[in-house]
Amino acid sequence: MHEMSITQGIIDLCLEHAGGRRILTVDVEIGELSSVVPEAIEFCFEACSQGTLLEGALLTIIRIPGRGTCQECGRETPLTELYGSCTHCGGNRVVIVSGEELRVREIEVDD
Ligand SMILES: [Zn+2]
Repeated sequence: MHEMSITQGIIDLCLEHAGGRRILTVDVEIGELSSVVPEAIEFCFEACSQGTLLEGALLTIIRIPGRGTCQECGRETPLTELYGSCTHCGGNRVVIVSGEELRVREIEVDD
């Protein structure tokens, strides 16, 4: 399962940064254009964090909306899919500006 390895990556990163301290909260940004399913991450997080310093930590997923710049009309357009088209002119040469994120924004550790 794709999400399982992603979640494991998130957990490894958090543990590395926490330096042996207990982790209380984790904020993760997931772009709406990434193929990652937030619910699956939440589910995997529960399972994967058991028995680690992350156990019981509050996971917050922040969704980043898709946005792109249209190469036809030069305007910025919202994107709901990876190869979406411009909402202004219908052009499909849109360069993605945001929405592909998958990163840990912040962790809070217990001092
Ligand atoms: Zn356009």
